[in-house]
Amino acid sequence: MTLQIGVVGCGAIGQDHIRRLTCTLSGARVVAVNDIDPQQAQHAVTAYGLNAEVYVDGHALIDAPDVQAVLVTSWGPTHEEFVLKSIARGKPVFCEKPLAVTAEGCMRIIEAEQAHGRRLVQVGFMRPYDAGYRALKAVIDSGTIGVPLMLHCAHRNPSVGERYTTDMAITDTLIHELDVLRWMLGEDYVSAQVVYPKRSRSASPHLADPQIVLLETTSGVRIDVEIFVNCQYGYDIQCEVVGESGIAKLPDPPTVSLKHAARNGSAIMTDWKERFIASYDVELQAFIDGVRNGALTGPSSWDGYAAAVAADACVLAQKSGKVEQITLPAQPAFYP
Ligand code: NAP
Repeated sequence: MTLQIGVVGCGAIGQDHIRRLTCTLSGARVVAVNDIDPQQAQHAVTAYGLNAEVYVDGHALIDAPDVQAVLVTSWGPTHEEFVLKSIARGKPVFCEKPLAVTAEGCMRIIEAEQAHGRRLVQVGFMRPYDAGYRALKAVIDSGTIGVPLMLHCAHRNPSVGERYTTDMAITDTLIHELDVLRWMLGEDYVSAQVVYPKRSRSASPHLADPQIVLLETTSGVRIDVEIFVNCQYGYDIQCEVVGESGIAKLPDPPTVSLKHAARNGSAIMTDWKERFIASYDVELQAFIDGVRNGALTGPSSWDGYAAAVAADACVLAQKSGKVEQITLPAQPAFYP
């Protein structure tokens, strides 16, 4: 059977997911689209030649009998209501990050999903599907470098718009490290601190950039993540794991090594969509396959909640300058 999907929110990532559902992935097709701006939804229908109904209301789309699963790719503050609605209708839902803009909102989703009795939610954290991170995790799990002791990470963007604020370094940018490092180490965080190096002159006056986030995990692994969103030179994701007996490093994306004009070098990507394009494909195919097989396996509501709790502590730490504690309740057996 072909899974019939309705998409709520046809902005940048919504259209990108519609493109991959329509042109790249198998086993699903888009039968309904919605955006707060109906012209935007209509544009998606035209651009990808969809045979899909345009809904002016996301809730009506979720109610539609031919919509078997839902993709929530609207503005972050609307995610919670559309995910809760999908659960209420018993429809599987793929929700782009954030699952909800507060940890309390994520918890409401967890409670609704557990009350329903079956996993229905996959959160759009794509880095656990990235081949490089998977290879790095395999090395850690093999024990080759011994037990991990420290992680040195960086998340650099060439530039950001005027609307990007200091807390977005956590809620929009670091959130991916908060998810993938927790997944890679198999541990939760216990504390966070944020320190501010000398400010880049490329940053907007209202933005503290760069920032360094210091995290500690339950077993005492120390993690530093440099967030530098006006680094100018490219989109660059780094992760080095220092173990008891060796070091393992996230591979850079493959590029041609070029010797030319008395220089030796290789290209650096500038677009985040290109850097993780393959993992977006794999995560969404996993959602389709999970729904069709009756068992979702990707990042869960609990993962969305854990990232939100850690992000809240980091935002607090940005303001207080202190080490802030991160406390998670026990993980329910519902989310193994
Ligand atoms: P975007 O381009 O602004 O798209 C969001 C769309 O949702 C806009 O067209 C917006 O319309 C629409 N919208 C707002 N409120 C709505 C509502 N109540 N009902 C239906 N549609 C509504 O943003 P984006 O970059 O695609 O990001 C969307 C979400 O995906 C965000 O939560 C973002 O964090 C996440 N995201 C994740 C990744 C990742 O790496 N996993 C990458 C990019 C984005 P208006 O513009 O008219 O408000």
